[in-house]
Amino acid sequence: MFIVFEGIDGSGKSTQIQRFVQYLFSLDKNIHIILTRNPYKDTHARSIIKEENDVTSRAEKLADIFIKDRELHSQELIIPNIEKGIYVICDRFSFSTVAYQGAQGIDIHSLLQKQKNIPIPDLTFLIDVLPEEAIKRIILDNKRIEKPHKFEQSVDFMQKIRNNYLTIKQLCPNQNILVIDGNQDIANIHKEIITHFEKFYYSEQKVN
Ligand code: ADP
Repeated sequence: MFIVFEGIDGSGKSTQIQRFVQYLFSLDKNIHIILTRNPYKDTHARSIIKEENDVTSRAEKLADIFIKDRELHSQELIIPNIEKGIYVICDRFSFSTVAYQGAQGIDIHSLLQKQKNIPIPDLTFLIDVLPEEAIKRIILDNKRIEKPHKFEQSVDFMQKIRNNYLTIKQLCPNQNILVIDGNQDIANIHKEIITHFEKFYYSEQKVN
């Protein structure tokens, strides 16, 4: 199974992924898990984002880097492990490029189209949070060493990313995208994720 977590920065993805992996690991002794993230090997994108403060700059370049890196990620790590029956859990995937580079000004349909050969997750948990709340969490996060970068500072820009995520859900009705209310407390969000996961997990077990 291939499971992705998406959402704006500060939505609580890492927190929920850690809890979910712990839960999954204890669910069944036969379960093996790989936890991975985007970007995979081409971390150049991180420095491009920090180069300047204009949120719209280098959009095409960033889309190109992230998509190529994701193709490699899929070929080298994601597909081979799914084929072995290992659970692959990924912090961000294709929809991040659609939501973020879409917010930078690129047409979201073309971003979806460019990634049509990349594996489709069995489940995508989209943690939906208000930008004001996400920014507050980023500022208060004492585990963070780095200062917030340009995509994490503006409520308007984060709202565009959030809207794009919700639009993707409408544009891809055949994909299992589960919108989770991320404004709740950590334990309740986890519970909601597990409820959705178990529905999917036990229906798959019946089929197999
Ligand atoms: P992301 O990976 O989406 O950027 P994190 O999981 O790193 O988000 O969370 C950012 C900060 O917000 C962390 O300090 C985390 O402890 C806190 N946080 C996460 N989820 C919640 C929540 N539901 N309510 C309050 N604070 C949260």
